[in-house]
Amino acid sequence: MEGGCACGQVRYRLRSGPLFVHCCHCKDCQRQTGSAFVLNALIETDRVEVTGQTALFAMPTDSGRPHDVARCPGCGTAVWSHYGGLKALSFVRVGTLDDPTALRPDVHIYTRSKQPWIALPSGVPAFEAYYNSKTLWPAESLERRRAVLG
Ligand SMILES: [Zn+2]
Ligand SMILES: [Zn+2]
Repeated sequence: MEGGCACGQVRYRLRSGPLFVHCCHCKDCQRQTGSAFVLNALIETDRVEVTGQTALFAMPTDSGRPHDVARCPGCGTAVWSHYGGLKALSFVRVGTLDDPTALRPDVHIYTRSKQPWIALPSGVPAFEAYYNSKTLWPAESLERRRAVLG
């Protein structure tokens, strides 16, 4: 899967499928995207081949844990984030894929603040706040995460 920013300065290729895909309806994501939710594909940073430089922006968070957003310095498009200071994991914004239909949410989170007109699909787990990845992620994804985060 390939993707990039609006101006083409930043291009990337995912060397494998993601670990898991989050649809986050929290207020921070709504504000930072200017939209109703964000779609993040979680993947090991070393599986993201990047052409071009990104600029990191530190976002204020309620939890106080760091959240850095990587943007194209030319057009400002946010291409991925690192949460909790974990640079080894990237949360790639699915909307920046050349084919954004390639990935669907595996889970909906922070539905307590989702916009009222959004009807969540049945069959996809949804949580009022965060969730326990150990019970939801495929074993292979948990293993991959262990390999990079220990
Ligand atoms: Zn750009
Ligand atoms: Zn969020």
